[in-house]
Amino acid sequence: MTQIVTFGCRLNAYESEAIRARANEAGLKDAIIFNTCAVTGEAVRQSRQAIRKARRENPHSKIIVTGCAAQTEPGSYAQMGEVDLVLGNIEKLDAKSYFINERVRVNDIMSIRETASQMVDSFEGRARAFLQVQNGCDHRCTFCIIPYARGNSRSVGTGEVIAEARRLAEAGFPEIVLTGVDLTSYGHDLPGTPSLGALIRKILKLVPELKRLRLSSIDSIEADEELLRAIAEEERLMPHFHLSAQSGDDMILKRMKRRHARKDTIAFCDTVRRLRPDVAFGADLIAGFPTETDAMFGNSHALIDDAGLTYLHVFPFSPRKGTPAARMPQVAKPVVKERAARLRAKGEQALASRMNAMAGSAQTLLVEKAGPDFNTGRTNCFAQARFTGAAQPGAMVRVRVTGATSSQLIAEPLQ
Ligand code: SF4
Repeated sequence: MTQIVTFGCRLNAYESEAIRARANEAGLKDAIIFNTCAVTGEAVRQSRQAIRKARRENPHSKIIVTGCAAQTEPGSYAQMGEVDLVLGNIEKLDAKSYFINERVRVNDIMSIRETASQMVDSFEGRARAFLQVQNGCDHRCTFCIIPYARGNSRSVGTGEVIAEARRLAEAGFPEIVLTGVDLTSYGHDLPGTPSLGALIRKILKLVPELKRLRLSSIDSIEADEELLRAIAEEERLMPHFHLSAQSGDDMILKRMKRRHARKDTIAFCDTVRRLRPDVAFGADLIAGFPTETDAMFGNSHALIDDAGLTYLHVFPFSPRKGTPAARMPQVAKPVVKERAARLRAKGEQALASRMNAMAGSAQTLLVEKAGPDFNTGRTNCFAQARFTGAAQPGAMVRVRVTGATSSQLIAEPLQ
């Protein structure tokens, strides 16, 4: 049997399902495929560690490494004695790649102009399905290695997206998460340049059986009128947006080559909160970006309250070889670590106060796990809730929130 080990983002999780389908088509047996991530040095280190462990435990299996770290540093994986084959991010989606006579096949990702739907229809053990609508990125933020791993921005045709959304809804998934690298740049490369907002409305119109549509991560400065209108008018578009904010300090945002200022993040959250008062925001924040002073860090820390952020993904700055930020004056590692810990602590406080504020409310949950003692599910705004009673993963359940822990709602089914 072929095992897939996935690192990183939802796009990788989606592609791992496509890899599973391609590997099965190719008739691959007794193999372990690592779909790696290159966002941080830590992600790369973890993938190497996992590869060594897999080889020790499976001396005869074929070990294949792919994903963003394989795309950006194929040679360093090819040098590992544990590895049999290294494939690039495009090659991993081609069944023929799994039986080539070379040890490395990684092509120039910048030469890729198109991206197609992978027609994935199974997500093992998941109540929600991911749907890739876009890949790559045209921006060049100074800390980011992703464009070198995934190439320039390209969108899946609207017709293909709707066909796949319909298939996933028919396969019984009540919720679909649209995913990509730079989701808000959707459609720029397609005839008629359909926007992300237009795509959302079309999916919800042409797939009426779909109960929930969620977005993976957006760049708020690229949110246009059409997206805001979809947010305001489409009830089945979930009121939960994860922002690629990165910092709360304007000088640092400039040095990151981001296209937004601190006030833009706050303004976007205020606007959307007026349109959907039950909205919750998540955000990516980097701690310890080169040249960040205590005062600049303070602006990031304060952004959590000023924008009303709830779900934080905190990244201690990790210099990625070949990026401009890796050549900038670095903040001392212990300081980076300490700042990341302070952001996480602030994030936990924000989550706890959100959980408490939801006590007493009625919510609809998408059940994720059903257990002998209790079940868990997610609200529209992505809060996790724990409740008792009969339930099946993928079912929608109405509950009353009776209490909360610092990270979870406690609820009981409404009769
Ligand atoms: S927008 Fe910036 S951070 Fe995001 S993938 Fe593109 S280059 Fe990286």
